[in-house]
Amino acid sequence: MKLSNDELILEAEKEIRLERESTLKIIKLFQEISARKIYLERGYPSFYEMVTKHFGYCAGSAMRRINAMKLVREMPQFEEKIETGELSLSVAADVQSFLYQEAKIERPYSINAKIELVETCLGKSRREVEQEFARRNPEREKRESQHAISNDRLRVSFSISKELNDKLNYLKDLLGHVDPSMTTEALLERLAELGLNKYDPQRVANRSQKRGEKKAKSQKSRENGKARETNPSSTSAAEVKRTRYIPAMEKAVIPDDGKGCTFVSETGRRCGSHRFLQRDHIRPFSRGGSNTADNLRWLCGEHNRARSCNWSH
Ligand SMILES: [Zn+2]
Repeated sequence: MKLSNDELILEAEKEIRLERESTLKIIKLFQEISARKIYLERGYPSFYEMVTKHFGYCAGSAMRRINAMKLVREMPQFEEKIETGELSLSVAADVQSFLYQEAKIERPYSINAKIELVETCLGKSRREVEQEFARRNPEREKRESQHAISNDRLRVSFSISKELNDKLNYLKDLLGHVDPSMTTEALLERLAELGLNKYDPQRVANRSQKRGEKKAKSQKSRENGKARETNPSSTSAAEVKRTRYIPAMEKAVIPDDGKGCTFVSETGRRCGSHRFLQRDHIRPFSRGGSNTADNLRWLCGEHNRARSCNWSH
């Protein structure tokens, strides 16, 4: 490339204008894809998953585009500011996530207040915008943040109350016999295991399956010598009142491969999300579907909801 210095700058400026134009185009396409929930039929549990896994954006780029998309969906008058570069993707995304966090702590902004905030942030750097947020909500320092520091480590930062810190230290003392110099990470690991044993539906199901097998084994040994019954499960099932509740034994026999949501898209993509994973009746209970293993499968919260409102199998 034999360009003069001036020509190089002009060329770069031209390409940057085109880049901003296509950024806005992508954001508007994302709006439509997200509104039609196309990610669900393609086997993704969320639009974010589709943006990272299908379109190949890294986590940060995906979040910036999705947040900017939400901002201009609500305030389309700022679309042209993205195009001119007065509103960078990062700042648009930061403002959107600030507004989201404010709404979450019950400090919602009216539409006029939102517009005023975006206008205040036009042409500012991310650092200046962060200062603006801190001025509006000094409690912001309490918020949680995390970023990857290597492939398998994250730096997480959040502040906690003195009371919670005392509780954690007390718990570390109680566990002193296991590990006298327990780190907070090790403590959280133990707490996460305890929580998962209680709330992870797959672990609960695996446990009840093991219990069921044990029970069946001991019953079998008691019946040793007696004539074999033809089919004990069908007689007892007939006695049980029909109920939507999935009995523990049958919870257990749903194949559990530990790979999460079993929804598979037409293109053959399996969702695999563990978010709000729950058992689902393949033939709906309301249409006579049974609680037996062949009528049950695991679906994530999103696919379960989408299925119950507009899919029929
Ligand atoms: Zn799913």
